[in-house]
Amino acid sequence: MHWSRRDFAKLGVMGVAAHLAPRLNAQTPQRKMGVPTDGSSSVGSKTGVPTDGSSSVGSKTGYAVIGLGRIASHFMPGVRLTTNSVITGLVSGHRDKADRTAAEYGVPQSSIYNYDNFDEIANNKTIDAVYVALPNSMHAEYSIRAAKAGKHVLCEKPMATNVAECQAMIAACKAANVKLMIAYRCHYEPTNRRAIQLIRSGAIGQVQAIESAFGFDIAPGEWRLSKKLAGGGPLFDVGIYSLNACRYLTGEEPNRIAAFSSVIDRDGRFNEVEENVGWAMKFPSGIVASCNTTYGGSMEGYFRVHGSKGWIDVNPAFIYEGLHLRADCDGKPIDEPNTARDPSQFQAEAEHFSHCVQNGLEPQSPGEEGLRDLSYITMIYRSAGIAT
Ligand code: NDP
Repeated sequence: MHWSRRDFAKLGVMGVAAHLAPRLNAQTPQRKMGVPTDGSSSVGSKTGVPTDGSSSVGSKTGYAVIGLGRIASHFMPGVRLTTNSVITGLVSGHRDKADRTAAEYGVPQSSIYNYDNFDEIANNKTIDAVYVALPNSMHAEYSIRAAKAGKHVLCEKPMATNVAECQAMIAACKAANVKLMIAYRCHYEPTNRRAIQLIRSGAIGQVQAIESAFGFDIAPGEWRLSKKLAGGGPLFDVGIYSLNACRYLTGEEPNRIAAFSSVIDRDGRFNEVEENVGWAMKFPSGIVASCNTTYGGSMEGYFRVHGSKGWIDVNPAFIYEGLHLRADCDGKPIDEPNTARDPSQFQAEAEHFSHCVQNGLEPQSPGEEGLRDLSYITMIYRSAGIAT
């Protein structure tokens, strides 16, 4: 199955015109996006954001973290490493956990909220922004409530569970005049940015094809296996890394998508969401990409880019540390392990958003970027015959 011009025209109707393509694209001045144009590697740099990315405002951006789960436990130490951000509030359904976290981060008891009294953050002047680290289906509700409370929103990926929710989040943040960023940490990560820089500089010639994958063997009982809470299966959760990478590596938007999905392990885990998805994309320049994701087994998160004069292999590409770029650029070998340790990626992400908040700038991965991925996820599911 392929997508007609009409299908893609709908993306425009949804307010995601081509100029909202990933800010890492070829048309965007690279210096502006912090991708080095001089061929230098940003591997090992402290944050992967422009060196002028530090706050020009004296005070720090205060974050209330909503949902004290796994990803929050990486984000909060990352914030602690920044110079422009601080944890000032917590929102949790478990007061004991919130109390322990509050003690660790110096958050006063008066800045601990639950899901019922959350809207009272409107009255808390120490909270400038929220970090939404909830199950996917709760992203839209809490982002919109935060915007209505006058708080900037940093929301985890996937942005939401459908396009309409994404549009509502963007509209709410615009109406409240607050910033909205989707936490695509790879946009701020030096090894991913180095791959983009090599491609844009022509080091591997014309990109012809990309392969990418990411998956894991999911434990039973996870909210990720509930369609109501997750919206979908591994494509929403980890396949989105490959999808987003193909877009930032090419700097293009796919104009044809074809996909398949399957359930192999009939062990009860996949009664609501898919186990495997494989999809192919064609980009306007002619670049083709093939991607896989699974919840049925361990699958390295990587991408391999084949160009007319070489190749780039980043493996691992999407995890929190240990990233490794290897390339052959017209006969010149490159081998660049990234020694940065977790939570450096979360530090970079928080620093970028706080910098945008403090200086009135648009984040590099705004709501429109999350909306685009949700649009393509919807198309992939439709092509694979999965109801959305
Ligand atoms: P967890 O299950 O570890 O944490 C989610 C938290 O949300 C819970 O601890 C809980 O916090 C709160 N919560 C509120 N309602 C529910 C509910 N009904 N079921 C479960 N939890 C609930 O999830 P993750 O941290 O792994 O994922 C959270 C989000 O972050 C997801 O959208 C995911 O896609 C994204 N993510 C992003 C990653 C990245 O690298 N950028 C990596 C991993 C996840 P409390 O007890 O405090 O109320």
